[in-house]
Amino acid sequence: MSEFVRPRVVISRCLGFAACRYDGQMVSFPLARELAEYADITTVCPETSLGLGIPRNPIKLYQCGDRVKLQQPASEADLTDAMRTFADEFLEALLPVDGFILKAKSPSCGFYGTKLFSANDGSSDATTIGITAGLFAQAVHERFPLLPREDEKRLEAAEQRHHFLTQVFTWARFRGAQDTGSVAALLEFQSENKYLLMAYHQIQQKVLGRITAHAAGRPFAEVRADYAQALAKAIQAPPAPVSYVNAVMHCFGYFSDDLGPTEKRNFLDLLTSYRCGQASRQDMLELLRTYVEQFNEDYLRKQTLLQPYPPSLRGKAPS
Ligand code: SF4
Repeated sequence: MSEFVRPRVVISRCLGFAACRYDGQMVSFPLARELAEYADITTVCPETSLGLGIPRNPIKLYQCGDRVKLQQPASEADLTDAMRTFADEFLEALLPVDGFILKAKSPSCGFYGTKLFSANDGSSDATTIGITAGLFAQAVHERFPLLPREDEKRLEAAEQRHHFLTQVFTWARFRGAQDTGSVAALLEFQSENKYLLMAYHQIQQKVLGRITAHAAGRPFAEVRADYAQALAKAIQAPPAPVSYVNAVMHCFGYFSDDLGPTEKRNFLDLLTSYRCGQASRQDMLELLRTYVEQFNEDYLRKQTLLQPYPPSLRGKAPS
């Protein structure tokens, strides 16, 4: 596989970069520092960018009729329009990016799990009437619906972390390919991601193949837009174990003739263990990588399925 393209990732500033939370604290988030070695990080703190101090009185989201408002109960300030304006300006000024990691449950940054309060409950015993996304996070979703986005809590799960990192590095590679303005680069991208796409979504893999196959005579901008849509669908959800095993089996086919019966049986036993949850994805990939080196299988060496992102980002938990 070619060298990793550096993804561009936007991260909430309180996730390990600055003590800018409402209570003057910072959240420990080791992945941010680990990622910074391989990615270009842009940090953002929407609340301090609005001029709110550190520490500050908390802000909350309130359902007011058919509108959701961002308010600071202690000062009775309505920050809704200011936050929307900040989000629009910040996101408009961004270079093309490959993903977002924002603080969980925040009324500004939370993609998931942010509390929504009743309009009449500005007091400390306010009633939660639902769960929504923070205002800045909503703006991210509206402007970049195709891009991977996560919060630090969900990334604690090994599977989610692996999936997110795979998405982000895949988008970075795609950005590198599309920046060339050539269909040939998209074809190369497709070739290097063949088994990753097979593991994720075989139907969308075929859609991507059709887009490049029928690219002749079309403006590149149209091809690129269609390709991005199809790629987003392909890698939106983590792969099902059954289709992951299918892709691994295809890779295994490259050297199965070179292996003895014991090695073959060991490999198939490993796949069975993975299906049963007794072996990890990394166990399978590790064995595949060993065979790739042993048999000098150059085409597979370039396959992103075997190494979708830098190995040191794998984390401690098995995936
Ligand atoms: S959650 Fe967002 S707005 Fe709140 S402190 Fe962190 S970066 Fe700033």
